[in-house]
Amino acid sequence: MNNHVAIVTGGAQGIGQGLTQALLREGYAVAMFDLNSQAMEAQIAQSGEYADRLMGICVDVTSSEQVNAAVAQVTARWKTPDLLVNNAGMARDKRIVNLTEQDWDLVIDVNLKSQFLCVKAVVPGMIEQGFGRIVNISSRAWLGAFGQANYSAAKGGVVSLTRSLAIELAKHGITANVVAPGAIDTPILAPLSAEQRARIMSTIPVGRIGTPDDIAQAVLMFASAKSSYITGQTLYVCGGRSLSSPSV
Ligand code: NAD
Repeated sequence: MNNHVAIVTGGAQGIGQGLTQALLREGYAVAMFDLNSQAMEAQIAQSGEYADRLMGICVDVTSSEQVNAAVAQVTARWKTPDLLVNNAGMARDKRIVNLTEQDWDLVIDVNLKSQFLCVKAVVPGMIEQGFGRIVNISSRAWLGAFGQANYSAAKGGVVSLTRSLAIELAKHGITANVVAPGAIDTPILAPLSAEQRARIMSTIPVGRIGTPDDIAQAVLMFASAKSSYITGQTLYVCGGRSLSSPSV
């Protein structure tokens, strides 16, 4: 994918970092949109031969002004983006009786509104060039999850948003698909004890926790120019966990 330009939101760490590095290996120029400038700088410093194809822009993806300015910066430095991976996300887990309006708004904004804003910012350019790939990161939790009413609703919104984008944008050569990860080893899981990790693993048919590279495999498939007949789909990358009923 030489000369192709990708944006990865939340690219500074975790799944986003894995996606960024996988896209660099495939030949993309990659722009990370993230709040964590320090982690983006560290990643650029560690990217060796790829560093000149990697940029980090400090962006709050819930702000339309910041997102629009960042997309303009990427376009000015390279060209219209070919691939948008909406990966930035966060959780604030509480039982419904304790969930506040602030918890609701924050999680909906970071996980769902951000995807709308980034799509709005890149789509005009993609329409003009007649090609685009949008991959939105949801979660297996969109099926429903204990203590995650806000997160689950946001991630379900991602699926519905993507299906509508797929229908609207198909005639412009733009596809939109969802990757729904299960448990993936990122800083999110760092606080878990060995016992908690073992309990999670026991619910995963393949018997292990996933890695950012497992997610990259799915994103690269949707991103490929050869995947032009695949749109509006949700691919679970969860070691088979989505096949059994949600935990209660
Ligand atoms: P992470 O917390 O390690 O990384 C998230 C990144 O998003 C961070 O670099 C953070 O700075 C950035 N970010 C957060 N809010 C932002 C904002 N407003 N503007 C810009 N950047 C912002 O998380 P992760 O585990 O790598 O998860 C990545 C995505 O995958 C998220 O959407 C998450 O919901 C989803 N997911 C993760 C798992 C998992 O087990 N790790 C499972 C299912 C889904």
